[in-house]
Amino acid sequence: MQVYKVGGAVRDRLLGLPVTDVDRVVVGATTEEMLAKGFRPVGADFPVFLHPKTGEEYALARTERKSGRGYGGFTFYASPEVTLEEDLIRRDLTINAMAEDDQLNLTDPYHGQRDLEARILRHVSPAFAEDPLRVLRVARFAARYAGLGFTVADETMDLMCQLSESGELQALTAERSWKEISRALMEDHPQVFIQVLRDCGALKELMPEVDALFGVPQPETHHPEIDTGLHTLSVLEQSALHKQPLTVRWACLLHDLGKGLTPEEEWPRHIAHEHTGLKLIKAVNERFKVPKDCQELALLVGQYHTHGHRALELKASTLLELLQSFDIYRRPQRFEEFISACEMDARGRKGLEQRSYPQADYLRGAAKAAREVAVQPLLEQGFKGPELGEALKRERLKALKAYKEAATA
Ligand code: ATP
Ligand code: MG
Repeated sequence: MQVYKVGGAVRDRLLGLPVTDVDRVVVGATTEEMLAKGFRPVGADFPVFLHPKTGEEYALARTERKSGRGYGGFTFYASPEVTLEEDLIRRDLTINAMAEDDQLNLTDPYHGQRDLEARILRHVSPAFAEDPLRVLRVARFAARYAGLGFTVADETMDLMCQLSESGELQALTAERSWKEISRALMEDHPQVFIQVLRDCGALKELMPEVDALFGVPQPETHHPEIDTGLHTLSVLEQSALHKQPLTVRWACLLHDLGKGLTPEEEWPRHIAHEHTGLKLIKAVNERFKVPKDCQELALLVGQYHTHGHRALELKASTLLELLQSFDIYRRPQRFEEFISACEMDARGRKGLEQRSYPQADYLRGAAKAAREVAVQPLLEQGFKGPELGEALKRERLKALKAYKEAATA
C-alpha cells in the first residue's frame, strides 16, 4: 500500500502556511489490512481510520457517485484498485486535489499548483455540483485566502450560481451548514464569505434575511456607506480585524436584520428595527441550530445595540434595565461581548473605522458600579425575598445615578 498526504496539508505547505491538520489517503489497501496494522476505524459512512500512535486520519482511496438528493445521497466505493487520481478527482477544488508522498513528490493531475500560483479557486470536475456544501466551502476558502489575492474562477462561480438556483442548498443539514458558516466567520476575511455567497445567489437561499439588507439605504449622517448590506460586511470585517470570538461575529452579521423589513416609504430611517429584527434573528438561529451562546448574543445585540451607542445619554433607570437584561452579575463575559459587538457596529462604517468608542468604557464602568452594590447591608437591615430584590434594585439605581453624574460631569 502507498500513503499520501492530501488536501489542506499539501496546499498549505505549498503556500508556505503552517499546517495544522493532516489528511492522508491510502492506495492499494483493504479495510482488513488496515485493521491488522492496528488502525482504528472511525465514521460509519467512510472507510476512514486513525493511526494507532499519532491519531491522524487515514482514508482509503475511494470514488463517489451521487445517488440522490442532499449529502446522504452518496454512494462510496473503496477498494485496493481505486487509484490516487480517481480519489483526487472527487475533491472540490484543484488546490485541494493534490497529493504528496514521503519524499514530497507531488501528484497533481488537475493542476492545483498552477491555480495556487495564479491564486484561483477552481473546481476539479463537473461532479462539483453533486454536493451543494461545496458552495459554502468555496466561499469559506475565499474568505480564508482573500488576503493572498485568491478569487473564484468564473466557471466555478457559474456552477455555484446553478447550484444555488436549483434549490439544492435547501437539502443541506443544519449541522453541515453551520460547521462551514462558523468556520468561515472565524477566517481573516469573513465578509468575503458573505460576499461570495451573495454573488452566486446562495445567500438568498441560505439567509434571505441578510441578503435583503443589500439595497436598503440608511441615513448618510450616521452611515456614510448608506447601504445596509455593505455596512453589515464592514461590521464583519471589523470583527475579524479586532479578533473577535464567534459569538460576536455572529451577532455582527445579524444585528441589523430588522432594517430589511422597513417599508420603503420610511427609508432611510429604520424606526424600531431593533424589535422588528428579533423574529428574523430567531429564525436564522433556528435554521442552522446555532449554539446557544451565539443565539443569545445575536438576539441581545439585535435588541440593544442602539442602547449601546446611546449609552452616555441613557437615563440611569434605562441603563439599569440594560444591565439587568444582560444579567451582568452572573454573565459578565456576555456583556463584554455585547460591548464589543456595538463597537464593531460603530466602526463598520465608511471612513469611521478608526473612531473612538467612549461608550465601551462608560458601559464597563456602569456595570462595575452596579456590581459593587453589596447585598450584605440590605440583609442586615432585614430585607428578604422580593423585597430584597427591590431594595437591591433601588441601591443599584442610586449607584448608577452617581456614576452617571460623575462620568458625564
Ligand atoms: P482545512 O485547512 O480547513 O482543514 P482542508 O482542505 O484540509 O482544509 P477538510 O475539510 O479537512 O479541508 O477536507 C480535506 C480534503 O477533503 C479537502 O482538501 C478536499 O480535498 C476534500 N473535501 C472535504 N470536503 C469535501 C467536499 N464536501 N467535497 C469535495 N471534497 C471535499
Ligand atoms: Mg483538513
